[in-house]
Amino acid sequence: MNFELTILGSCSAVPTSEKYPTAQVLNLLERFFLIDCGEGTQIQLRRMKISFAKIRHIFISHLHGDHFYGLPGFISTRNLLGITSDVHIWSHSDLAGLLQPLFSQMKGKLGFRVIFHPLNFQRPDKIFSDSKAEVFSFPLKHSIPCCGFLFREKQNLPKIRKEKITEFRIPVSQMQKIKEGAGFTTGEGIIIPNEQLTFPPPPPRSYAFCTDTAYCEPVVETIHGADLLYHEATFLSDLEGLAVNTLHSTASHAATIARKAGVKKLIIGHFSTRYKNEDDFLNEARQIFENTDIASEGKKFSIGVHHTQAL
Ligand SMILES: [Zn+2]
Repeated sequence: MNFELTILGSCSAVPTSEKYPTAQVLNLLERFFLIDCGEGTQIQLRRMKISFAKIRHIFISHLHGDHFYGLPGFISTRNLLGITSDVHIWSHSDLAGLLQPLFSQMKGKLGFRVIFHPLNFQRPDKIFSDSKAEVFSFPLKHSIPCCGFLFREKQNLPKIRKEKITEFRIPVSQMQKIKEGAGFTTGEGIIIPNEQLTFPPPPPRSYAFCTDTAYCEPVVETIHGADLLYHEATFLSDLEGLAVNTLHSTASHAATIARKAGVKKLIIGHFSTRYKNEDDFLNEARQIFENTDIASEGKKFSIGVHHTQAL
């Protein structure tokens, strides 16, 4: 089942001819979550053939322009396309006041509701939950209130061993009960305990998003064990003082958080345009956390792989 991240924009505040400000789309079991929405997001969605209609949930880390200036254009185009499904936006509570005047200037009446949900910048908070997925926000350390996000699938039920279905001729009608913990009584009246019929499901997969932030150790507990972590790395360690002063991270900071949190893979981005060679970021991070990759426009990252040999 799909759990995949697509990078739409990966640069820091100043875009280049090839790099867009921060935006990502996460496909979590066919829920398409837009994470930050820098300028140019709608162009990148077009380029990567991601449907505007599928995006109904948007998560904005903070109100620096390079993380949300794409919203008016995205909402306007979504309206011009005739899409009528509502959009939910989680962000700082000031966002609604910033956007509403722009919505009133759009061509045509807005044909869907935009529902704003204020984030909690004091402590981790569950902000979304449905039958298959949940999303948590957690505070980061930046010059204005800023949140990271953890996206996680819900725990699956145990799987039924295929060979047991054949061996005991288990009917389809009994399978849900067995997945929920029941045993099975054969036609001969023999009771087969649940443990013999099932094996545990894989642990829930998760993706953590951390930008913009200075080195922020409290996040380690919240994102612990994530399958994939995106962490900003605006600077290299040669400018650690500048990173500290501007409340951003170095590649070493990002890698240290990844190592302490025991994540499986790290991707870094949001590099300052003063650096010309992205490999320098990769090399610095890999000295601390080997399984590091670079986020760049158009790249996709699969998150965990579930085995599908069981029912
Ligand atoms: Zn910022």
